[in-house]
Amino acid sequence: MAVDRLLPTGEARDLIRLTRDVADKVLAPIVDEHEKAATYPEGVFATLGEAGLLSLPYPQEWGGGGQPYEVYLQVLEEIAARWAAVAVAVSVHSLACYPLMEFGSAEQKQRWLPDMLGGGTIGAYSLSEPQAGSDAAALTCKATAVEGGYRVDGAKAWITHGGIADFYNLFARTGEGSKGISCFLVPKDTEGLSFGRPEEKMGLHAVPTTSAHYDDAFVPAERRIGAEGQGLQIAFSALDSGRLGIAAVAVGLAQAALDEAVAYAQQRTAFGRRIIDHQGLGFLLADMAAAVDSARATYLDAARRRDAGLSYSRQASVAKLVATDAAMKVTTDAVQVFGGYGYTRDFRVERYMREAKITQIFEGTNQIQRLVISRHLAG
Ligand SMILES: Cc1cc2nc3c(=O)[nH]c(=O)nc-3n(C[C@H](O)[C@H](O)[C@H](O)COP(=O)(O)OP(=O)(O)OC[C@H]3O[C@@H](n4cnc5c(N)ncnc54)[C@H](O)[C@@H]3O)c2cc1C
Repeated sequence: MAVDRLLPTGEARDLIRLTRDVADKVLAPIVDEHEKAATYPEGVFATLGEAGLLSLPYPQEWGGGGQPYEVYLQVLEEIAARWAAVAVAVSVHSLACYPLMEFGSAEQKQRWLPDMLGGGTIGAYSLSEPQAGSDAAALTCKATAVEGGYRVDGAKAWITHGGIADFYNLFARTGEGSKGISCFLVPKDTEGLSFGRPEEKMGLHAVPTTSAHYDDAFVPAERRIGAEGQGLQIAFSALDSGRLGIAAVAVGLAQAALDEAVAYAQQRTAFGRRIIDHQGLGFLLADMAAAVDSARATYLDAARRRDAGLSYSRQASVAKLVATDAAMKVTTDAVQVFGGYGYTRDFRVERYMREAKITQIFEGTNQIQRLVISRHLAG
């Protein structure tokens, strides 16, 4: 059931229509096959790029869609309702464009941004390491200054689109402490850069997550984004925006689970009536609908603050926390509505439940979101 959205412009309404069309015609027919076989959907990102759906919140002068964040997030939600792995990868691509857009020099933007925003090159974001996830400031991958650039050595972990993306936002150590980290834009074909085997994950099977290994890899100085030592500030500021993307993905997943649970409950009968007419189950569905609607309102509130130029870091963490917890609960309850069938791979609700779990973990676990929120409260 399509969500009846309150959108700011006619152009935004057209974009949602276009997204639903692409989701129905391009994503829906192949999602089950790719998720079961864990195969990458070649061509899907080119199609999304051609449709202009890969760079919606970025300025048109650089090849972006020039859309408000609230519109971009609702597009992302529509994609996630069909295929969470693809929506996550779109969100991560958008995250990977952020450092160059916000901290790059005019010359760097001129050189790389139009291709990135046009979907000609796909991006990845590489902050996490095997021993440094939540505590990103503890990262150890090292970028040593040499003539003309840096020599990079070390391991990065958990890269969405690893080995497939064309460029990597690498955060590496150029000095001591939290002010000793810098951001680089590293092309995939850099000598000395290699990728591990895709992780065998609980969900999001169609988009690989890999480690990366830098072995004396040379990165030219012109590929450093922002000042030396500014990396963590860049990483965290990108994550404020990225977290809203994950909140929207979580709402898309929860909405899809709710829709399928309602449709099932309307036709399944027990004790002589439709299961939706048993109050115990009807109320469960009502709570699921309330959770989805309130999670959507929370991310839209943060997005509208961002669009208005207000601070939104705390609200982004609230949105990520509320939406991903809602997705976990709603998808679990959807499995309950399907009874024994919900526990099989014959119905999608099982997949939604597995996919919801990761939204509580990446781009800052929900414990870390609470830490961010409490620090804002503490001033
Ligand atoms: C499928 C997938 C895709 C990912 N994609 C990317 C990507 O594209 N780029 C990228 O850089 N990273 C990515 N990640 C990494 C992800 O962001 C990290 O896994 C996450 O930040 C948690 O880090 P960790 O796994 O090292 O857990 P840890 O930091 O070791 O945390 C373990 C547990 O301790 C808790 N904890 C830690 N510190 C605190 C604290 N101060 N207070 C309370 N609890 C705490 C955590 O909440 C968690 O429950 C991805 C991960 C996965 C699984």
